[in-house]
Amino acid sequence: MTSKLDINPIKAWLPHINNPLLVSGPCSLESEKQTIETARLLAKDKRVFVFRGGIWKPRTRPGSFEGVGSIGLEWLKRVREETGLLVGTEVANAQHTEEALKAGLDVLWIGARSTTSPFVVQEIADAVKGAKAVIMVKNPVNPDVQLWLGAIERIHQAGIHNIVAIHRGFTPFQETKYRNYPNWRTYIELKRLMPNLPIICDPSHMAGKREYLYEISQKAFDMGMDGLMIESHCDPKCALSDAEQQVTPADLAKLLDRLIIKNENANNPDFENKLDVLRNRIDSIDTELLEIMASRIDIVKQIGKYKSENNVTALQINRWAQLMDSRVNLGKKLNINETFVKILFQLIHEDSVRMQTEIMDEK
Ligand code: PEP
Ligand code: MN
Repeated sequence: MTSKLDINPIKAWLPHINNPLLVSGPCSLESEKQTIETARLLAKDKRVFVFRGGIWKPRTRPGSFEGVGSIGLEWLKRVREETGLLVGTEVANAQHTEEALKAGLDVLWIGARSTTSPFVVQEIADAVKGAKAVIMVKNPVNPDVQLWLGAIERIHQAGIHNIVAIHRGFTPFQETKYRNYPNWRTYIELKRLMPNLPIICDPSHMAGKREYLYEISQKAFDMGMDGLMIESHCDPKCALSDAEQQVTPADLAKLLDRLIIKNENANNPDFENKLDVLRNRIDSIDTELLEIMASRIDIVKQIGKYKSENNVTALQINRWAQLMDSRVNLGKKLNINETFVKILFQLIHEDSVRMQTEIMDEK
């Protein structure tokens, strides 16, 4: 079911914006000098609209730099006065929220670890009631779209309409080149459930390393995302947190120059016609696929009955291993992604076994 919450488009609170939303600034504010220097450099780039800087830092292990605390609010206010950029920070409890609102910050975001806890989100929602600030909600660390959605609903119930979701990736459960893997499926599902919710991407926390920022940012635009949050620092290698993923404002500008911003529609009748023809072909291929699947299910059921009559198990591991090998090999010959073939046949096989055990239980 899609949710029709009245969430404003970015243009409602940033009327001058004509491009995707760009939020940038240090992972952590470290000193007034570092804050102002980074902000001044960023403000030269007219594509950046919001300055970010963490002052209360959620660190995985104790003993790391935990942020400068409330004094950072004064530096953020100075950034806004001097550069005209909107300013924002992460809040993780009612006290942070009250202080940040009192200081008049334009943007407050809820970090990934906080979104994981409905108690924390509710505490922030209660503190933010009726505020003018834009609230950004990062995805929870695990790919649970309901938890992400629930956090957005809690903020919305507090009377906030200027909400933006941030896809910052998920804790990997196996070795990956990225720090937090981008799960586009969860992003697509959130977009399907809340079509009018602006969603931006945080390539910095996904990548964990500067070298991957470009590929993730381009992917975000290819996926129709509404903007980017990218960490920047006047001297990244000396940063007190996330040093490997931050870029200088000059490198950020170079990265932005290389990105191709895509539109949802081409506004070109020739393009639309050709797309329609191709989509009609896809529609009929999908129909054929489902018809073929239905014939396969018929046979699976016949086999189930036959096994049942002969007291043979539904799961036959040798047959399954052979089937998987042969399908993966065929898939390779046909140039189909191996992981896709594996997942597809795992699903098909799992459901076949389920149907056969049901037939056996009916006996
Ligand atoms: C951050 O934005 O600096 C941060 C801590 O991010 P996340 O909540 O995505 O880990
Ligand atoms: Mn960070």
